[in-house]
Amino acid sequence: MPYSFGLIGYPLEHSLSPRIHAEFLRVCGLQGKYDLFPIPNDDHKEKELKMMIQRVKEGELNGINVTIPYKQNVLPYLDDLCGDAKMAGAVNTIYAINGNVFGENTDVEGFLLDVHNLIDLSEKEDALVFGAGGAARAVVAGLVKKGWKVTIAARQVHQASQLVQDIRASMEIEVSLKGLNIEFCSLNETGTIFQKLGERLQLVVNCTPVGMLGHANRSLFPEDIEIHDKLCVYDLVYNPRQTPLLKHVEKLGLRGRNGIGMLLEQARRSFEIWTGCAPSCPVEGIIQDLYEVYS
Ligand code: NAP
Repeated sequence: MPYSFGLIGYPLEHSLSPRIHAEFLRVCGLQGKYDLFPIPNDDHKEKELKMMIQRVKEGELNGINVTIPYKQNVLPYLDDLCGDAKMAGAVNTIYAINGNVFGENTDVEGFLLDVHNLIDLSEKEDALVFGAGGAARAVVAGLVKKGWKVTIAARQVHQASQLVQDIRASMEIEVSLKGLNIEFCSLNETGTIFQKLGERLQLVVNCTPVGMLGHANRSLFPEDIEIHDKLCVYDLVYNPRQTPLLKHVEKLGLRGRNGIGMLLEQARRSFEIWTGCAPSCPVEGIIQDLYEVYS
């Protein structure tokens, strides 16, 4: 039987996931399709989310990915969370075994694999994360697992506070709390955080859609502050390729990387969960093809 996968989220028209998974199917010599299932963010969304998960439960779909803004909304409809989804409290990959539906979070591994091309995480330093939504949950979980100290800067401080509480609660179960250091602040306070952390701040990660095509065309990086030249900046946004944040930090002489590599790595892991086959193609080989779609 050909595989049937899909993506739920909204909006989805610019999604690269169908092309990525078509390439993975080809490389692994498998038959299948990957469809987009846009679910508008309105009063019907909970019913629609439940229905899509039911389709996975019944085996009509072999697996689905979840994207912005539903990575937390799907949690009540799942039988259990696996691996990194427990710690992140957010899900991007859903699959069923014997009629039970499970949620995993492959963004954590996708982020850690790709950020490694920018910075060596084995030196445990400080990171600043913009945003406190589904993607931020994965990034914070990944950095904390690596022993980094993380400050989350969000426009809704209560959202960041909830994220910190959830990660702390999950880590009490998962690993020792010793050394766990996560803080939060308002996005308006990032200049102060830069000053306070000084050279200890080694990584800034944008986990908001700011800078993404169709969203606010600007950078959240604070203006007029003193920055040391070893600071690295990772932007989860990848469309456009050179995001406003990456343009901004390039002018300051800092190194940056967009999130296309993470997109590919999280997709590779989801594909492996669904099929048992890990597509061996290097990400660089398909990044150029993907950007041709946008041009
Ligand atoms: P989400 O759950 O909706 O969370 C978005 C976060 O960004 C929220 O904290 C939101 O705050 C904040 N935000 C939105 N607009 C903002 C603005 N104008 N100024 C300041 N903060 C703002 O979305 P998500 O799933 O975390 O995704 C976030 C971004 O990461 C998206 O662009 C997504 O495409 C990208 N992403 C990329 C990858 C990859 O593989 N490269 C993986 C996952 C996500 P409010 O609640 O106040 O709106």
